[in-house]
Amino acid sequence: MPMIHILDPHVADMIAAGEVVERPASVIKELTENAFDAGAKNITIELRGGGATYIRVTDDGCGMSPEDAGVAFLRHATSKLRDEHGLESIATMGFRGEALAAISAVSRVELTTRRRGDEAGTRVLLEAGEIRDMLPAGCPEGTTMIVRDLFYNTPARLKFLKSDRSEAAACVLTALRCALGRPEVSVRCIRDGQEEFFSPGDGRIESCVYALLGREAASKLLLCSGENGGVKVTGYASSPSAGRGNRREQYFYCNGRFIKSALLQAALEQANKNTLLVGRYPACVLYLDMSCAAVDVNVHPAKTEVKFSDEKTVFDAVYYAVLSALSGEGRSASVEPSAGTRQMAEPKKDFYKSMSAADFRANGYAAKPAAPAPRPSAPASAPVWPRPSALREGGTAAQLRLDLPVRPVREEKTPESPVNTGFSAPAGSKIVENPVQNVEKLSLPDHKIVGEAMKTYIIVELGEELLLIDKHAAHERMNFDRLRAQERHIMAQSLLVPVTVRPAAEDAELIEQNGELLGELGFEIEPFGERDYIVRAVPADMDAGEIAPALEEICEKLRRGKSLGEQQVWDEILHTVACKAAIKAGWDTTEAELERIVEEVLSGRVKYCPHGRPVSVTLSRKDLDKMFKRIV
Ligand code: ADP
Ligand code: MG
Repeated sequence: MPMIHILDPHVADMIAAGEVVERPASVIKELTENAFDAGAKNITIELRGGGATYIRVTDDGCGMSPEDAGVAFLRHATSKLRDEHGLESIATMGFRGEALAAISAVSRVELTTRRRGDEAGTRVLLEAGEIRDMLPAGCPEGTTMIVRDLFYNTPARLKFLKSDRSEAAACVLTALRCALGRPEVSVRCIRDGQEEFFSPGDGRIESCVYALLGREAASKLLLCSGENGGVKVTGYASSPSAGRGNRREQYFYCNGRFIKSALLQAALEQANKNTLLVGRYPACVLYLDMSCAAVDVNVHPAKTEVKFSDEKTVFDAVYYAVLSALSGEGRSASVEPSAGTRQMAEPKKDFYKSMSAADFRANGYAAKPAAPAPRPSAPASAPVWPRPSALREGGTAAQLRLDLPVRPVREEKTPESPVNTGFSAPAGSKIVENPVQNVEKLSLPDHKIVGEAMKTYIIVELGEELLLIDKHAAHERMNFDRLRAQERHIMAQSLLVPVTVRPAAEDAELIEQNGELLGELGFEIEPFGERDYIVRAVPADMDAGEIAPALEEICEKLRRGKSLGEQQVWDEILHTVACKAAIKAGWDTTEAELERIVEEVLSGRVKYCPHGRPVSVTLSRKDLDKMFKRIV
């Protein structure tokens, strides 16, 4: 017969400790957060071995009175939360009053603390959660917490610890994440007597990022800022050339708290979607500030996961802040295209390593955090790229038949936007000027188009450099930007001779279901007989031969896109259209067309194809001289 009994509070603490204190790094996190909550300006975090034997966190915060020091280790003892109402708006890192109880239950703790203004301080010694000694102590204002022999009384848990090396690495990473979240606090981390990092605490995000992530990583970050529906975003995101092999360098903070969030990850990655190489991940240090009521931090014991009350608003805030920073990259009044291009051309040589401090600043790094991010045409809070509402369920076959054929395609679908001043290439040319960028005519560096090699690469002489441009990749990017700028008014061209296509049965169904979307893309399609469709208009510049493959690809993307967001599917489809409407390697291309492409690349506006591949590479005279052994 089972007997139910209430656990001894001491045992309960040990169980709770399992949630809060998983490993030494958890101790570091809790103690450092307590120091932040105490208003410390300077914090020193020390550990020995893997942290299990010794962790010390010293702060110059408000300290504790002798009475508080006596009760701080009791379960649910907190000065930060009074009642359940407080849970709705938590501004401090801690609030459960659990950490000190949990840590002290499984270790030997020594607390030395002196409240600001008090004559003397207090020392409290605990073992397995029991106070062994408590006495007045002479000590500076603030608090020092020493945690020794973690898990000494819970051998099972001790067994689960990894090597000292990996536990120490986790400790340092945790300390760094804490420090990176608080540029206004100086944090020093010392491991086995060696300084691991030191943040200056001058309140500037850039010096904090620089100090903690290192000069090299910091130099590849672009300033981000934006606001959407009360969610403020500041910080940095990596430039497209600085993608990483994993997500380790994505640091997100919500109201000063380091968080892990699939939502924010997705927003960051989606904003990078069309510039970053497939398989690479952006890095970032992004700080989100929002009303405490808009985020629930009480969903995870370690509080690294949070729940936003309005996920869409938060997603958009991050998405547009990052997108805006990326779109602003390299757009400056004096055009110096070779820097970016050179960087792409020489991936092995670290371009940034050789940057001077002035370059570093010019790269946007040293700008004040409050300074607005380099912006494209719209404030970050407003969509930079118009958002399509394209993928609505819609378009029955009947609608499709009624809707499409009666439209005079050219007139109606040409964008009304005044910035789209049209074509600069001769009539009949396939190259259309990018409407968004038409507004700013930049002066280009002196250059000479030498010619085209292999009907694929445009060769340009640029001072002491040779620029090789992949004409298809560059044109694809130009098309993509143009299409995106047109939103749902993508220019269509009527076909002199309509084309008949016979899609696979599953594609036919999708074509019928997505009539509206295809219409927005510039396709005019009607059912024709049992299984065929007649195509009367296509997105501008699409070759008749590309129609069937394009439709096939679009259908495939629609199918795959069910799990993706609306914006992402739309982008995917624009990729297809951009690609199919682009001149191809192997095609004859007129001089005017080549000129337009070169112009776009030299202006710095076109750097990566929509899949993130570089559109150009540079060979310097030095490179050539070396090849010919003129110099060694
Ligand atoms: P919580 O942080 O959730 O309140 P803790 O168990 O971490 O719970 O801490 C309990 C209480 O001890 C805190 O509410 C705070 O009043 C006090 N305290 C802990 N660490 C410090 C510190 N470094 N400086 C001042 N007070 C502290
Ligand atoms: Mg705490």
